[in-house]
Amino acid sequence: MILETTQQVYGKVALIGLGLIASSMFWAMKRRGVAGSVSGYARSEATRDTARRIGLCDVVCDTAIAAVADADLVVLAVPVGAMGAVAQQIGPHLKPGCTVTDVGSVKKTVIEAVAPHLPQGVHFVPGHPLAGTEHSGPESGFATLFDNRWSLLVPVEGTDPAALDRLRLYWERLGANVDVMDAEHHDLVLAVTSHTPHLIAYTMVGVADDLGRVTDSEVIKYSAAGFRDFTRIAASDPTMWRDVFLNNKEATLEILGRFTEELFALQRAIRTGDGDHLHDYFTRTRAIRRGIIDAGQDTDAPDFGRTKLER
Ligand code: NAP
Repeated sequence: MILETTQQVYGKVALIGLGLIASSMFWAMKRRGVAGSVSGYARSEATRDTARRIGLCDVVCDTAIAAVADADLVVLAVPVGAMGAVAQQIGPHLKPGCTVTDVGSVKKTVIEAVAPHLPQGVHFVPGHPLAGTEHSGPESGFATLFDNRWSLLVPVEGTDPAALDRLRLYWERLGANVDVMDAEHHDLVLAVTSHTPHLIAYTMVGVADDLGRVTDSEVIKYSAAGFRDFTRIAASDPTMWRDVFLNNKEATLEILGRFTEELFALQRAIRTGDGDHLHDYFTRTRAIRRGIIDAGQDTDAPDFGRTKLER
């Protein structure tokens, strides 16, 4: 049930980058009056025009510098590889005492890229909402994206506890549950839960595409749940995911190494007819799925209730 009461946490919020995540944040802020006003900036005129047309942000600025003027919270919502350059540009124009956060899917390299550009007296509290879809751009956002999803805050050395608490409250009012962890741990957890699975999906769809040259129509026509789910993940934004892998190299390679070992073990079980191994393995993985449903992070509806959940 959506509350209609005002729950303002920041006076002015500036969104830098106006894609899926920033636009969802805007609609979620509007839903509960979490910000007094919201300014936005995107690098291309086309995106800024779209934002103005659909009423995304109270004001859309033609420069990032204009957008951050007098902002109490500045959200960097651009691809991970672009965070440093954006921070460098806005750094000298930030209001003293404001908080800068980001929504990047990788934390260690983003912190290294952004922190040096922020002046004394500006609070840096990196973050990462664990919510998204395979869609991107200003028109893909929706107010409920963060509802009951986790948003991770990753404070840096010397982060002001009051700034951290306020950002926590902000995310809670956007509908999310909040946890706090350090950057290295974040990057390892995400390599397991998101980054490596995406790489596997990209690979599987690539393999099918190669086969598709022989039986093109069959791959599409008989696209059943397993493959269809992979294609959805593999449709995610190429720039975003290129940056994720280039920036979470260590943890992704570590998890991929373990994945390859397990894959070889299953391959051997198939070759040697070791059904017990396969059965035990699949029983263990089924329990993990049950745990995710019990934790409220997916639904048990057939096909994951997908059509109702995503838009
Ligand atoms: P998106 O929909 O593709 O939007 C990206 C925005 O960044 C656009 O406004 C784009 O501007 C701008 N941008 C792209 N390259 C840029 C550059 N080199 N310099 C300055 N601005 C640039 O992306 P998104 O899905 O919202 O993702 C934004 C951030 O959230 C990323 O860091 C991503 O890792 C993180 N994230 C994504 C998800 C997800 O599922 N999508 C989930 C959690 C976190 P133009 O439109 O003008 O090109």
